[in-house]
Amino acid sequence: MGAEGYVFELERRGYIKAGPYVPEVVLDFPDAVKELHREFLRAGSEVMVALTYYAHREKLKVVGRENDLETMNRQAVRLANEVAREGDALVAGNICNTWAYDPQNVKASSSIVRAMYEEQLGWALEEGIDFVISETNDYLGEALIALEVIQQLKLPAMVTLATVQQNHTRDGYDYVEACKILVDHGADIVGLNCDRGPATMLPIIEHVRSAVSCYVAAQPVPYKTNAQYPTFESLRTSRGEQAFPLLLEPFLCNRFEMAEFARNARAVGVNYIGICCGGAPHYVRAMAEALGRTVPASKYSPAMELHPVLGAQVEEKHREFLADWKS
Ligand SMILES: [Zn+2]
Repeated sequence: MGAEGYVFELERRGYIKAGPYVPEVVLDFPDAVKELHREFLRAGSEVMVALTYYAHREKLKVVGRENDLETMNRQAVRLANEVAREGDALVAGNICNTWAYDPQNVKASSSIVRAMYEEQLGWALEEGIDFVISETNDYLGEALIALEVIQQLKLPAMVTLATVQQNHTRDGYDYVEACKILVDHGADIVGLNCDRGPATMLPIIEHVRSAVSCYVAAQPVPYKTNAQYPTFESLRTSRGEQAFPLLLEPFLCNRFEMAEFARNARAVGVNYIGICCGGAPHYVRAMAEALGRTVPASKYSPAMELHPVLGAQVEEKHREFLADWKS
């Protein structure tokens, strides 16, 4: 079990600015980061992902905090470590799409991207990480650079792709084929994260699963994407507005739907099951429990039979709703 969506959740809590989405919270309100780590840990996440998503040179420039680059990265890994030790969690270093990779100018842009990953992961390694998650990769080319840098550091590599487009990465590789190429280059875990909800991520991940023999990861967003609107970026409100990123609430899945995803993912052979943007502790707990686990936060899991009026049938009704929704 993994859990992500730190940037989205801390934005909702008032600690990160939507737009740039730079995790300034790491330096400005470290306790807020630790609290969310702790909530995910209690909910069953076995990995504390250091909040270094978008804490790279390109993005820090946007908010004028390039000088905070090293302290922000180091502090993020420290915070993840502090909370991981409260349980038995692994700590993952985290890198992502840089917005600097240019398929029209691969050679020059690759060296910029590589330098960004090397500095971020160099600091992370010194602070202590167990493995690295390279995620929301729009380009296979950029993902391969990330993989090489992780391998230089002799750390296990989890590399997952963004799936904003219908079938292909932005540099034209079918998602399944791109995962196979990452495996051929030595990735330890491959898969998908972000962009797609359970309904539209699972079919692709099934193909990935049957195409590779290594571990497979799936971390969808908890939104009701569908064949017509396969990504949360494509969802439209009833008035036709783009819902991403600030009008997404009407599309949120409920906890039972995410629990169902966890069961389905395990059934098709996914090894690393998690959640991405929009994720919150109640989903993670429901997913962990669906996988048969009792987690620290299970102490406060629903017990509707103890409600004076509603009673146990309410929880039963929720489950029936889920069955209806599925059919
Ligand atoms: Zn995400």
